[in-house]
Amino acid sequence: MSLIEIRHLRKEYPDIVPLKDVSVDINKGEVISIIGPSGTGKSTFLRCLNRLETPTSGDIFVDGVNVCDPATDLSKIRRRMGMVFQQFNLFPHKMAVENIMLPLQQLLGYTAEDAYKEAMFQLERVGLEAKARRFPDELSGGQKQRVEIARALAMHPDIMLFDEPTSGLDPAMVSEVLSVIQDLAGTGLTILIVTHDMRLAREVSTRIFYMDEGGIYEDGTPEQIFENPVGRKTRVFIYRIRSWEYAFSYETKDLLEMMGSLEEFCRRQFMGTRAATRCQLAVEELVTAYFLPVMEKEPSARLGISLNAREKGTKMNLIVDCSQFKEGTAVLDGQRDSISDAIIDRLLKRVDPPGEGLVMYEIRKSAKQ
Ligand code: ADP
Ligand code: MG
Repeated sequence: MSLIEIRHLRKEYPDIVPLKDVSVDINKGEVISIIGPSGTGKSTFLRCLNRLETPTSGDIFVDGVNVCDPATDLSKIRRRMGMVFQQFNLFPHKMAVENIMLPLQQLLGYTAEDAYKEAMFQLERVGLEAKARRFPDELSGGQKQRVEIARALAMHPDIMLFDEPTSGLDPAMVSEVLSVIQDLAGTGLTILIVTHDMRLAREVSTRIFYMDEGGIYEDGTPEQIFENPVGRKTRVFIYRIRSWEYAFSYETKDLLEMMGSLEEFCRRQFMGTRAATRCQLAVEELVTAYFLPVMEKEPSARLGISLNAREKGTKMNLIVDCSQFKEGTAVLDGQRDSISDAIIDRLLKRVDPPGEGLVMYEIRKSAKQ
């Protein structure tokens, strides 16, 4: 028997039916990332599992107990499922440690001493024992999210539900939350995570649900979903999230904004720091050394740059659209200093030009010999 068995789950709202007819089994210890465009019922799906939403019809069995049966004790079910949302739900006037102790004392009847011990143990687990006596507004977003996770873990759930746990966080804080979730994976805990962070989906999960068209449109391993998606909509979605496009113009000339957007893209991919740095260096060097000088003479020309990750993100194609320049791709063969040439040659390998003013490169994985 699977830990969670979902049969013909349907959820209707007055104007929309986000879940039409979902049936799926989830085994103990699985770590499932739920991805898909917004509005496809990902949050609704999670909320039906712990009955924060009442399904219109269908059944959800957790360890054989039907969550949808009105006779079922919901508080018992919810205790087995920890839930962490994008927004924070900590009590602002309680210290971190008290936030964790409170439900233990109120719901599970712990003594203050036992609740304190448990809370400190869980804070240590998420690397925050030193912040136990801080109030929520004295903590960063990433730290607050880790306290939320510790609070959920203190109830010793069998299942953890995360709804976009890293979405509201600054890039720098994403990795600390990610590593906490990573530590939980493989401990026997069953985890479902709704996320837009493809690195999280790729690195942490054993299985991916791509949601669309009122249900789980495609269900597969990370390899399958990211490398060989079967469904048409899955392919479109994966292609889109693995591509970065930018139109650079001389008038706005916002190199910082462009680099910020590229950095965010690299982070959302499953790219290592080295690979990300190489990508960013290559794009920056191409624009500053090759295009800015030409743009000075042709200020109205726009430069299109796009990156597409392939094959587990280890291969990146960089396509430069020079079609708006008078000399087209010849811009890249003009006069430059040899240092820029050397840098670019070390980072990029020019491959078959697709033509029409486009130049394609492959980002080299390591320094050219
Ligand atoms: P996702 O998490 O994939 O972005 P949601 O599950 O939040 O999607 O929402 C799915 C659809 O259901 C959306 O169109 C949303 O507007 C609608 N919806 C969600 N919650 C409610 C609600 N309480 N009342 C009415 N419509 C809702
Ligand atoms: Mg949502």
